[in-house]
Amino acid sequence: MNIRDPNARPQTGGLLSVVIPCHNEAEIIQATHRRLSKLLPTTGMDYEVIYVDDGSRDRTLLKLETIAAQDPHVTVVELSRNFGQQAAMSVGLSEASGDATVILDADLQDPPEVIPQMIDRWRKGADVVYGQRRSRDGETFFKLVTASLFHRLFRKLVPYRMPVDTGDFKLLDNAVVQAICQLPEKRRYMRTLVAWSGFRQEPVLYNREARSAGETKYSPLKLLRLAGDAIMISSDTPLRLVWAVAGLLVAAATVTGLAAAIAGSAVTAVIAAIAFVGGLQVAATALVGEYAVRGYREAQGRPTAVRRRTLSARAAATTQHDCDNSRHLDDNEYTSVHPIGHRPAA
Ligand code: UDP
Ligand code: MG
Repeated sequence: MNIRDPNARPQTGGLLSVVIPCHNEAEIIQATHRRLSKLLPTTGMDYEVIYVDDGSRDRTLLKLETIAAQDPHVTVVELSRNFGQQAAMSVGLSEASGDATVILDADLQDPPEVIPQMIDRWRKGADVVYGQRRSRDGETFFKLVTASLFHRLFRKLVPYRMPVDTGDFKLLDNAVVQAICQLPEKRRYMRTLVAWSGFRQEPVLYNREARSAGETKYSPLKLLRLAGDAIMISSDTPLRLVWAVAGLLVAAATVTGLAAAIAGSAVTAVIAAIAFVGGLQVAATALVGEYAVRGYREAQGRPTAVRRRTLSARAAATTQHDCDNSRHLDDNEYTSVHPIGHRPAA
């Protein structure tokens, strides 16, 4: 699997894929496509737009069918039911064959006019160019505060660099798309997968606009569920907190035990014994959790490391991005291990 040297990226041309997950976006999808059709021909890249209809129950799919019939740049993937935005984005990425791929919401909150800046950064060597929100219009106070707090907390929970104030609006080099699509894990949270994959990540600041029509698909409860999912998928820190509780209980038992011995108090001794047994029980639970979480991490099947390039005189002619467990795969091997059918770039 040979992928173009990022330091020798083409300064013109290439293929851009745009992936758009859509769930009940009938009110806006045609306007979105009109805006993209105006912008994308000006980027200097050939382009394809991949709409993933995520089990819409309104007329979104009908409208997408019309768009696909009229525009040869468009591919529409219809999912069999609503699987959620994360799944829809994954399917879209597996369909993308661009040198670079942009993920975009259907509701025009992320202005497509930022895409040329992203392409510019990509041509200069960035592997991931993520949109970072300078401002957010049209969101409730509750959403602004909870999103900001969550991003800042989440950054501390994962062991790799997580940019704050970013969503899914980003450009990914083909190597990053392959690294992500190649992962066998089924339950996905795209923001952390992109951050986890590493590579050279750079921000582009933009103002997030209000939804131009329709409503958000995320109720506070759905957002809470997504946040829980994100943490379980990406972080072992909650389990470490259980160990900390066990440690605190044992420390409390030691202190009260000493106090009981000095004062000769039977009541304090009972409290110390209860704290000690409690600490042992919590530690036993944490130990079971430790095995469970390690089993889950192994089941996720992420590679030990993601190789960006290999430099050697021998390999100079064929600089490679490699996305597996540090092996170089040929195309046949790649196809056979690929879980969701991503086509390797030619
Ligand atoms: N979306 C999706 N499946 C879902 C929910 C949302 O494909 O189950 C899409 C939706 O159509 C939009 C994007 O994901 O293109 C972001 O959704 P939304 O705008 O409702 O999220 P918000 O911007 O309010 O966070
Ligand atoms: Mg939105």
